Amino acid sequence: MTGPGSAHAVVWQGPRTLSMECRPPASPGRGDVLVRVESVGICGTDLTAWSGRDARMAAGTVVGHEFGGVVVEVGQDVTDRVEGQSVAVDPNEVCERCDACATGSRGVCGRRRLMGVDIDGGLQRYLQVAALRTVVVPGTPDPRSLSLVEPIAVGVHACDRAGVGGGVSVGIVGGGPIGMGCALHAQVLGARDVTVVEPDLRRREAAVERGLLAIAPGSTPDRSWDVVIDTVGTQATIAAASASAERGATICVVGLSHDAAMPAPDDLVRRELSIVGSFCYRRVDLEMAARLVAERGLASLPVDLIEGFEQAPSAFAALERGDLGRGKTVLLP
Ligand SMILES: [Zn+2]
Ligand SMILES: [Zn+2]
Repeated sequence: MTGPGSAHAVVWQGPRTLSMECRPPASPGRGDVLVRVESVGICGTDLTAWSGRDARMAAGTVVGHEFGGVVVEVGQDVTDRVEGQSVAVDPNEVCERCDACATGSRGVCGRRRLMGVDIDGGLQRYLQVAALRTVVVPGTPDPRSLSLVEPIAVGVHACDRAGVGGGVSVGIVGGGPIGMGCALHAQVLGARDVTVVEPDLRRREAAVERGLLAIAPGSTPDRSWDVVIDTVGTQATIAAASASAERGATICVVGLSHDAAMPAPDDLVRRELSIVGSFCYRRVDLEMAARLVAERGLASLPVDLIEGFEQAPSAFAALERGDLGRGKTVLLP
């Protein structure tokens, strides 16, 4: 469990510069647990921060906000966590008092701080965190899969915002990890068919292997969709989403771009389209995602595993060049 390098953390020092620092485990505070991190995902948010394009990022911050591990010690006031439990961590540190927090919509708390960007994140072997910010992944899940809970929760929430349910035809623009998380949950909810629109052939193949339909952008789907989830969120993708939408469809935008994008008002009005946004997730979405990961483990999402947290600098560089594999990049200790 411990050994040379086992307490190392991956720390951001400036644009495209990471260092390894020793952060030895400390006993947890009264309401905290000590987590031994087993799995850390990297996404676009991390990449933006790593490259120096996120003003919130300060030198000396441990990177990573998608992670999970095993509880190795519990604080004296903690009654609902035990040693040995597998958990994912909600990386959103919030006020716990406002209306948003009270209803479980922690992602929209005005005082939200994101681990790995605003405060130290999860790319370190041991980490103390408030017990209430851990989500138990039931059973004895594959520890490598624990970081998948957070990105899948984004998809669970988007499906909920979009009104995905049994029998509906779903289109998903973008076959990256968020799109595949949406697709996974749409299948679980009993969608009639789920089509992923994705330019990368390998990602389309991964989608088909999972029982999804997959088409390249610009291709016409076999049927128009009752629900379209856009995980890209640009002018072009929202226009494509609206073009393939059934009359009366809901378009849910979960991808964040800075395009001034909207379907033409004429389209919205005459076809009675609804547009909703989906940001982050609620507590219940994390819990649903934890159950999905408990059942499916590493098969929950297409993943590219990289062994050794010390591989983080090369993993970030490869992600920026776009030459990693077809799935979610997951770093293992
Ligand atoms: Zn992320
Ligand atoms: Zn709050």
